[in-house]
Amino acid sequence: MIYFDNNSTTRVFESTVEAMRPFLTETFANPASAIAQFGGIAKVIRAQKATLASAIGADDAGQFVITSGATESNNLALLGAARANPARRHLIISAIEHPSVMEVCERLRADGYRISILPVDTQGTVDESALEPLLSGDTLLVSLMLANNETGVIQPVGSVSETVKRHDSTILVHTDATQAVGKVPIDLSGELAEIDLLSLSAHKFHGPKGTGALFVRDTYILAPIFHGGGQQDGLRPGTENPASLIGMVAALTTLVTDSDALSDVARLREGLEARLLATFPGAFVLGGSSARLPTTINICLPNIDAEEFVDRMAAREIAISAGSACSYGSRKPSYVALAHGLSYEQAKGCIRISLSIESTQQEIDCFLREFPEVVASLTP
Ligand code: PMP
Repeated sequence: MIYFDNNSTTRVFESTVEAMRPFLTETFANPASAIAQFGGIAKVIRAQKATLASAIGADDAGQFVITSGATESNNLALLGAARANPARRHLIISAIEHPSVMEVCERLRADGYRISILPVDTQGTVDESALEPLLSGDTLLVSLMLANNETGVIQPVGSVSETVKRHDSTILVHTDATQAVGKVPIDLSGELAEIDLLSLSAHKFHGPKGTGALFVRDTYILAPIFHGGGQQDGLRPGTENPASLIGMVAALTTLVTDSDALSDVARLREGLEARLLATFPGAFVLGGSSARLPTTINICLPNIDAEEFVDRMAAREIAISAGSACSYGSRKPSYVALAHGLSYEQAKGCIRISLSIESTQQEIDCFLREFPEVVASLTP
């Protein structure tokens, strides 16, 4: 199989599995139990969170709430902030946020909140000039993703957070960094020093599924959305899973220390993109002239049904996706593509190819042999 669907999920590194194993089979006591305290599991959890913090420049500032993934982290960020400060009832998000931000906002809208949507330009970057006029004394939170899951376009989160804080330092800024972590440097004490909340998910960077985190700079800004136990300072009750946390941190540490591998994958991506654009007249890359993740290409082919295309590639054991995997099978064009100003027909032809540091030139060569045959099979 050629697996070019890494924005959907990634293969767990062997080294990650090995790092997790002892915490599944040997040191398996409930972290809240007396025997676990005796065995030092709490210390292990603290040390892992500190490593996680330093991997994204958080040092000891703030804290991490370990969650079941970015969907939960995003829910906790937005709903938890709304619960902690019910006096403010306005949120601002971009038009290209993941459904786990979008649909939380739809829920809040149904509960009487005002939601403003920031548009993106034709290259997929949020329109910063539209932000300031929207900010008001009622604004609770601004949420802008760090990199889009369908296009890889990197958003100006640092400068957006500066604008927000200059206007009113009590407005919270959240970023969904799910696709960016492990692929681009993240610095919560540098460019992202004004960010209050950051979501991430282990399975997007070769860690285990069902594990993620929410960075929370000051815990008073959040109220829990789950109830039932005192774990994680009451912010996310439920038995903690040291093995998953260790897997998440091991995978991230591997990526953060391997910047050569990320430059290599960027070169592979550039070569693949150039070949595809040269082969198909009329094709274009969504967000092609914006700063993007080194791994992602979203290519729009005229007169191709992307979902049919993805199915035919899958029959040849090549994994890619149309839009995002979350919306696969919906047969609706991607709202992300439409937000770039594409027509309905153009948006239905957008195909996402997402590489990882495990991708090879041999796979790219094979992919480039199969791709035109499948396009030809769909062209009348
Ligand atoms: N945000 C973004 C940008 C994503 O790409 C995803 C995964 N598709 C999520 C949130 C949800 O992550 P998880 O699968 O960990 O719930």
